[in-house]
Amino acid sequence: MQDVPLLISRILTHGSSIHGTSQVTTWTGEPEPHRRSFAEVGARAAQLAHALREDLGVAGDERVATLMWNNAEHVEAYFAIPSMGAVLHTLNLRLPADQLAFIVGHAADRVVIANGSLLPLLAPLLPHLKTIEHVVVSGPGDRTALEGSHARVHEYEELIAGKPTTYDWPELDERQAAAMCYTSGTTGDPKGVVYSHRSIYLHSMQVNMAQSMGLTDQDTSLVVVPQFHVNAWGLPHATFMTGVNMLMPDRFLQPAPLAEMIERERPTHAAAVPTIWQGLLGELTAKPRDVSSLTQVTIGGSACPPSLMEAFDKLGMRVCHAWGMTETSPLGTIARPPAHAAGTPEEFAYRLTQGRFPAGVEARLSGPGGERLPWDGESAGELEVRGPWIAGAYYNGPDAEPLRPADKFSEDGWLKTGDVGTISADGFLTLTDRAKDVIKSGGEWISSVELENALMSHPEVTEAAVVAVPDDKWGERPLATVVLKEGSTADFESLRAFLASDVCKIAKWQLPERWSIIEAVPKTSVGKFDKKVLRKRYAQGELD
Ligand code: ADP
Repeated sequence: MQDVPLLISRILTHGSSIHGTSQVTTWTGEPEPHRRSFAEVGARAAQLAHALREDLGVAGDERVATLMWNNAEHVEAYFAIPSMGAVLHTLNLRLPADQLAFIVGHAADRVVIANGSLLPLLAPLLPHLKTIEHVVVSGPGDRTALEGSHARVHEYEELIAGKPTTYDWPELDERQAAAMCYTSGTTGDPKGVVYSHRSIYLHSMQVNMAQSMGLTDQDTSLVVVPQFHVNAWGLPHATFMTGVNMLMPDRFLQPAPLAEMIERERPTHAAAVPTIWQGLLGELTAKPRDVSSLTQVTIGGSACPPSLMEAFDKLGMRVCHAWGMTETSPLGTIARPPAHAAGTPEEFAYRLTQGRFPAGVEARLSGPGGERLPWDGESAGELEVRGPWIAGAYYNGPDAEPLRPADKFSEDGWLKTGDVGTISADGFLTLTDRAKDVIKSGGEWISSVELENALMSHPEVTEAAVVAVPDDKWGERPLATVVLKEGSTADFESLRAFLASDVCKIAKWQLPERWSIIEAVPKTSVGKFDKKVLRKRYAQGELD
């Protein structure tokens, strides 16, 4: 067979020609969104590559950062930077300033492309970003904040104007770096995960399979998951392979504009973490909209509460649950029930699991002593995975050896996910917890996720997060923090009784005796429950 390297430039060339009329629509907050065809995105990506090379001197596998929302220009950067041989480095705009400064320095970014609306965030940070020489600004926003900065400031549109709309994309090694993303530094400094052209290409093909997201050019995908969160779960690359239209929310991520986008632009698919959908559900309950176009919703990033799945099903928005991490590109599992379960009560149970491993992801469960556990749906252990789009090490600078910490990689090179769960004989993963969130009470484990899901199925609870707190007798016990709906009169006794009732069937010894009503569960930079903050608040005596 011919040995044709699997390159991002090939995805771009395919998408912008074969699917040239498909569209990237960006929400602007104005009466009309902004529309750009894949052909135009392709032409502008070529112009951007010329500008980066000829005007800003980007060379070799240099990292080029983006500090951007989901929009058409960010898609252009997604394709231009790797196609020319450089490395796209998406910055998570919700990270604390010190972590952003660390990440930019560690990746040695010299150029950053930033949205104008994010300059209030970038400007105070810039003096700490010593490696940055050029800031390219795109879209609306006051530029004066950048006056006097050490970096040269360019206008995106001026920079690309007049440049050739084609580029002789180099024939690269498919194993070369194409993009990088840092994990949020929940423990220690953030770690850089580098995706190769080959890994992105293969991952995109898997995302497009009918048993995965399975979208076609008849679909429009509302890409809510940020482009800085594991490459928007692979959607920008996958859509360019199949011509799926993209609807990009830019900075309008609040429930009301999301509902309006769905009603007006009629996407058929959407992807985001559960907290986004909880917010949208509240909005749709308060002010119903026509969301009938949206029939498929991919939910991942944290466990999908059963109550959310049920509520979305009722609205005709069928949830497909998926699991992944920055290190897994991210598609690790996806919950498409097997044929025999279709239309049976079992189907819902299958959909609630984290899903099946697709071809390309191998999995095993590791017990406390490192022993292999069976796939029997009962033996719980740490999930380890390997495959062509699973990280084999962390980035450690251009001249240093890659990092392979023993808590993250097994001796034989598998990724230790830090997630604890079971695998059924037919390959469905059920996560009970993150290893660090499990509650170890008197030698037994309590699943915080199970308690949270049960609490969130209570009609008066909007959010619930359960964390382990130290206990003299049991070692650890669960503390339940709960956000109640406005006007709710539920109290701890009634919530505890609900957990113990036939509806939830939580064992008595697992019922929390410590409770706290809070206004909102703190969230991480990508919208997940931030249990670290809750544990800290408890330690400071704030949650009694
Ligand atoms: P962070 O570590 O900052 O949260 P990631 O997005 O890489 O960044 O998070 C990956 C982790 O998110 C997984 O290891 C797992 O704990 C959790 N996760 C992702 N998807 C799911 C899911 N569907 N159900 C439960 N947990 C999930």
